[in-house]
Amino acid sequence: MNENQEASLLAQVPHGLFIGGEWRAASSGRTLDVTDPSTGRTIKTIADATPADGMAALDAADAAFPAWSRTPARERAEMLRRTYDLLMEREEEFALLMTMEMGKPLAEARREVAYGGEFLRWFSEETVRVQGRYGSNPEGTGRMIVTQHPVGPCFLITPWNFPLAMATRKVGPALAAGCTVVIKPAALTPLSTMFFVKLLEEAGLPKGVVNVVTTSESGALSEPIIRDPRLRKLSFTGSTPVGQSLMAQAAHGVLRTSMELGGNAPFVVFDDADLDRAVDGAIAAKFRNIGQACTAGNRFIVQRGVVEEFTRRVTERVKTFTMGRGTESGVDIGPLIDDRAVAKAVQLVDDALARGATLRTGGHATAREGTFFEPTVISDVQPGSDILREEIFGPVLAIVAFDDEHDAVRIANDTEYGLISYVYTENLARGQRMIERLETGMMGLNTGVVSNAAAPFGGWKMSGLGREGGAEGIHEYLQSKYTLTPDPFV
Ligand code: NAP
Repeated sequence: MNENQEASLLAQVPHGLFIGGEWRAASSGRTLDVTDPSTGRTIKTIADATPADGMAALDAADAAFPAWSRTPARERAEMLRRTYDLLMEREEEFALLMTMEMGKPLAEARREVAYGGEFLRWFSEETVRVQGRYGSNPEGTGRMIVTQHPVGPCFLITPWNFPLAMATRKVGPALAAGCTVVIKPAALTPLSTMFFVKLLEEAGLPKGVVNVVTTSESGALSEPIIRDPRLRKLSFTGSTPVGQSLMAQAAHGVLRTSMELGGNAPFVVFDDADLDRAVDGAIAAKFRNIGQACTAGNRFIVQRGVVEEFTRRVTERVKTFTMGRGTESGVDIGPLIDDRAVAKAVQLVDDALARGATLRTGGHATAREGTFFEPTVISDVQPGSDILREEIFGPVLAIVAFDDEHDAVRIANDTEYGLISYVYTENLARGQRMIERLETGMMGLNTGVVSNAAAPFGGWKMSGLGREGGAEGIHEYLQSKYTLTPDPFV
């Protein structure tokens, strides 16, 4: 792609707020700049919503709810399916846009478009499968009817690391269930969501069903929406501390909440693992999205008999990586999202080294323009190091050794997070024991990538509440009603 192609793509992306089916400027006239993290340059200037704009978006979602919730399921399904088809036709443009605003290499951006699109296809299929039940009560005196109803207007807040898929993973099931939404993407990467909403518009979405607000003051804009009694559901993906504060706000209206929060994934390799597979899996689990994934392997916990061999092999692979702007061919590692992310990677690596870890490769921020941090491997990480406790969110693979299975489970579960774990073993019984003993909502058993629109994604412990995707996903946006009627024969 050359600069002209990039400019013409950016010109097609809306720059306003989308409220009640109209693209409009912020009521204050304020704007915010979106930058390319690989260059630090502004790529687009967009509307910066005020709290009043946020409330206007909620007004629109509330006004659209009665008609949308009564729209036949088949019509809602077909609207989602049309949007999926449009997205696939424009896969390459979406991938490029995502790379420009977020930094991930183009090949990974294409995979995110495919993954994000699957939520539209999957939930278009789920729309017509929402079922209730009807049966006799145990006493035989009445009939019990259970029906499913959309929860109402929803507020969806998404992070910057998967700018398209986190939006489709929420909008897909919400629309499928008959809910209307206000979506607030992260200020760092709002463009993919805005471009996606333009597709929904092209697919014929009625006015007000989806509304988008982009803002530099997410807290001030969100709080009045969350406290408004018309809102019935909050779905958030982001960090655990922000999720906790939003849950406290949501308590006011006893809102339904879905919380997809932070992770600290253990990646456990036993002596009996297939080491080729384990190394491939480690590279995928760690360096996908430049390490900026909630599912990223955070602690590589490797049995003593293979730890040196595993370390040597992953280090060799990491040394071959090419760092650069994600649009350039052959790039494996793009920039981190901003200066704060680089500073955090520097601090975590320095702390681990100061406590006795060994640097195998990388370890530094780079002097080039943009926010880059070298792909890094450190081994012999000592207990008490910050890197074992905190979510790294960068391309740093940190290795600790363990002695036996009991030790592995203890280290793996020694975190308040519980999103995902990875286990490599060729011993079936051991694999089954790990499924039962590791405290995470998801597990990759001999694989380093698990996400799939057909599966329930979500965490245990402080990694969250609720599930996105799978048969479970649509139920996050539905509420059941039980009705009793007398026995019709009496
Ligand atoms: P973040 O700072 O918590 O932000 C997430 C979203 O919340 C953004 O849209 C942000 O908007 C908004 N936000 C921040 N403060 C807010 C407030 N006071 N009120 C309302 N909204 C607020 O997280 P992030 O740095 O963007 O994302 C990285 C985190 O997300 C990591 O912890 C990662 O593990 C987690 N994550 C989890 C999953 C999962 O499925 N479990 C998936 C992806 C990411 P602004 O940035 O514009 O302020």
